[in-house]
Amino acid sequence: MTSSIQTLGELRKAHGSSPRPGGVKQEIRDNLMRKLRAGEPLFPGIIGYDDTVIPQLVNAVLSRHNFILLGLRGQAKSRILRALVDLLDDAVPVMPGCEIHDDPLAPICRACRNRVADEGDRLPIAWLPREGRFVEKLATPDVTIADMVGDIDPIKAAQGGLDLGDELTMHYGLLPRANRGIFAINELPDLAGKIQVGLFNILQEGDVQIKGYPIRLRLDVLLVFTANPEDYTARGKIITPLKDRIGSEIRTHYPTSRENAVAITAQEAWTSRAGGLKVQIPDYVRHVVEEVAFQARSDRKVDRRSGVSQRLPISTLELVVSNAERRALANGETLVVPRVTDVYAALPSITGKFELEYEGELRGAEQIARDLIRAAVGNVFSGMFEGADTKTVVEWFDLGGSLPMSDATAGDALVASTKSVQGLRDLVQRTGLAPGAPAPAVASAIDFVLEGLYAQKKISRNEDRYTAGAEPAPRRPSRREEAAMEEEIRIPGGNKKKYYN
Ligand SMILES: [Zn+2]
Repeated sequence: MTSSIQTLGELRKAHGSSPRPGGVKQEIRDNLMRKLRAGEPLFPGIIGYDDTVIPQLVNAVLSRHNFILLGLRGQAKSRILRALVDLLDDAVPVMPGCEIHDDPLAPICRACRNRVADEGDRLPIAWLPREGRFVEKLATPDVTIADMVGDIDPIKAAQGGLDLGDELTMHYGLLPRANRGIFAINELPDLAGKIQVGLFNILQEGDVQIKGYPIRLRLDVLLVFTANPEDYTARGKIITPLKDRIGSEIRTHYPTSRENAVAITAQEAWTSRAGGLKVQIPDYVRHVVEEVAFQARSDRKVDRRSGVSQRLPISTLELVVSNAERRALANGETLVVPRVTDVYAALPSITGKFELEYEGELRGAEQIARDLIRAAVGNVFSGMFEGADTKTVVEWFDLGGSLPMSDATAGDALVASTKSVQGLRDLVQRTGLAPGAPAPAVASAIDFVLEGLYAQKKISRNEDRYTAGAEPAPRRPSRREEAAMEEEIRIPGGNKKKYYN
């Protein structure tokens, strides 16, 4: 359809007198089929779901289902729902001024029906772009039927001499305003039972009771939801008839690979900043930031039911870049190269993004976050430096060497202070440092190597220095580690090796 059509008469001439059968769900299905045939990308910007979530989503749309996305926080659920807008037509014809976007070919409200009867083919029509056809609501227990469906204004009714059940006396809620579009309700289980009943009634029967008055509204809406899986399956959280009407339950998940996670964060985090500084983020910093989230998701001190959002690495990376910017500005550098130690400066974005189990509470959020960062560094470092000879550097420390540690040190100063450490420059090359790399980049690579050795407990560090030896006061080993140690001791032959991580 084109928006050159301006009157009901022209619309009828171009498209016939009856509305499109199947409504909005058919429209989305048609557009999806066209995209599938053309091999167009379906949900650009949704990373890591190609073989899992997206095929199920496509099937749900092809089936014209209302559906729900079940997943923990920060799994791109809302983003997927918003992306459905791309599957709507560019614009649809609507009755001008109608709050529920009535179709001029088949208006459902009394006022629009009256206008069509009065003005006929001369009636001017308007065009509603696809962006105006998506309504989103976060469910909370205090959402009322008035918010969702609408309310009746008895004074207006009395003044107009109208029947209270007449639509002209109604203030429309969110659902009617989503008519001919997509209505997304986030965290569905938080919606009170009677509101769920109201939703169900209007979708199933086309009518609803408001303050005892029957209201009839034949809405055309694609209804989509999100929920935490445990809340959704908990008994009594969702009324059965509504659950019954949800055609598909689709499970979302966190990134399964660190590469995917890096790609998501690169897309979402605000790191290309104006201000005269050039930001260059090394891959190992990106990987450490993601690994913090992976570690948190598998740490039993962190509550798994509430999950660890992908927003954790996203805002962490932003703070990491900011900390590096701060250092560059203070030292008059124009090149900003974040370091692994900058991740510690991002504690404020980490501690708020997970819930702790009891054992975690005892240890404290900040200490947990520090443990996670160290484990993440160790993991990324081990992967990258597998088989590397770290002995020479460790010996330098064992022979009494020590280095200052501060995230405020300028790149060239850090490089200069580590010149005498034998074997360090060779190790640093393994980070993929380009030949002739500028000082801030070399400094970042050195920082990564030192933090890596510290994470592997080959050297130790306190607040401001790296020195020889393992940690003076090791943290209490977890039960799993204790089990691993016991196993280690039982190995015959007495060839015990020390356990790192
Ligand atoms: Zn209307």
